[in-house]
Amino acid sequence: MNMKHKIAKVDVHLVSYPIIKNFQDATRKVETIGYTIVRLTTDDGIEGFGVTYHEVGGEATKELILKNMNPRLIGRDPFETEVIWQDFFCYLRGIGRKGLMFCALSAVDIALWDLKGKILNQPLYKILGGSNNKIPVYASGGWTSYSDEELVVEVKEMVDSGYNLVKFKVGVDCGRNINRDVLRVEKVRDAVGPDIGIMLDANNCWDAATGIQFANKVKHCNIIFLEEPVFADDIPGLSRFKKGTDMPLATGEHEYTKYGVRDLVLSEAADVVQTDCTRTGGITESLKIAAITQAWNLKFAPHAMENIHIHLVSACYNALFLERLLMFEEITALIYRDCPVPDKGYMYIPDKPGLGLTLNMDFIKEKEE
Ligand SMILES: [Mg+2]
Repeated sequence: MNMKHKIAKVDVHLVSYPIIKNFQDATRKVETIGYTIVRLTTDDGIEGFGVTYHEVGGEATKELILKNMNPRLIGRDPFETEVIWQDFFCYLRGIGRKGLMFCALSAVDIALWDLKGKILNQPLYKILGGSNNKIPVYASGGWTSYSDEELVVEVKEMVDSGYNLVKFKVGVDCGRNINRDVLRVEKVRDAVGPDIGIMLDANNCWDAATGIQFANKVKHCNIIFLEEPVFADDIPGLSRFKKGTDMPLATGEHEYTKYGVRDLVLSEAADVVQTDCTRTGGITESLKIAAITQAWNLKFAPHAMENIHIHLVSACYNALFLERLLMFEEITALIYRDCPVPDKGYMYIPDKPGLGLTLNMDFIKEKEE
């Protein structure tokens, strides 16, 4: 086997997709979603890819990778994920401590891990130390812009299609009416019965006191966790929330790197940490984040991008499950040719090298911006 591999080519593709449906949560309306796809090719023609995704800012991420990261990737050994991550962390530190810079680094890092798997001819979960168990997955949708009836119908559809874990949005009227939220949760609980696991997502809409009030009012509906009841950067507020209710607190989809997660756990501001490896710094950083959550005996439940996270969840014993955002189903099924789909609330890891996914380059090139 050739032991020396060098990155010879970096390609970046941006695919965006308008959202015409009425998808609004407590704090924003979704108008566009899209993927930024990084393809790294070695000097002997082996290709790995990684992704990040966006509602806004995909163009900037693409430019950052092409203009600033590309020259520093050419000639590198793809196995040096740790060194390459640290190089970019230092090189780009002045322009991004969170946000788009880390979206770019995440996509590059995931591509490196995919490439390692392709070169070694091993699935990523094996390289990470996981096993090919079936992984629980929950359905995620139920926007605050829905009428009560639309909400109940969508959640019932999730259950009818085999999910026994569901998540939907709270924070109607931009978070100004928690009594309506309680009513909506009660309606869903009545409709799905006692055996379906329900999670709620408030998308940053309340202060700690309102979040506590809501959590305590909705307790009788048996909720697995409440997500982002407080602005994600209000770590003291998240901590106050936890002191006022025994409802488990999930947060972290807007947190970046091990440093962000360190601050969350030191402030006792999460029970379930939900970082997203396609934004927080890739596989390299997510392994460290998962280790921090293990050390604090917290749960790890990565946000969205279930086809990427499936490998990570397989390798983390304190990981709960995957999240499947219904909003992303259509574009994801077009981006990949062979995307695994849930079966009765579980996903099965593709036993193919790397991420085990094949890009649909015909679709990507047709839609590319
Ligand atoms: Mg969320």
